[in-house]
Amino acid sequence: MSLDDLYRRVIMDHYQHPRNKGIRSEGGILVHLHNPSCGDRLTLQLIMDGDRVKEAYFEGEGCSISMSSASMMTEAVKGLTKKEALKMAENFSCIMLGEEEKVEEDLGDIEALRGVSKFPARIKCATLAWKALEKGLQEKEE
Ligand code: ZN
Repeated sequence: MSLDDLYRRVIMDHYQHPRNKGIRSEGGILVHLHNPSCGDRLTLQLIMDGDRVKEAYFEGEGCSISMSSASMMTEAVKGLTKKEALKMAENFSCIMLGEEEKVEEDLGDIEALRGVSKFPARIKCATLAWKALEKGLQEKEE
């Protein structure tokens, strides 16, 4: 199995069996974002415990890239401090820009989205969840 096949499999697994899908009643920070170029819609819910992301959930509709990215992101940021989560978002955008040499941490499943960087039209799909994360964490600061 080639690396591309493996990555495709990871993406489809997150798309078909999304982690952390469904907004909970607890409240927390809610961010709605829309990607007009593809029609993806996403709502992200962050439940903070002080400076730490305690839980992250999402709800939305869209292509496999946008939804699997949201599933991966919500899994990856749970338990991270705000600073760590923002750093991960920055690393993700480096991958999308093809600047992988700047990324020092192991991003796990998220690496499966690496191939998206070759398709500029789809980058906005992959980054939608991460934009929502950044927006949500910044709102908390005010
Ligand atoms: Zn999309």
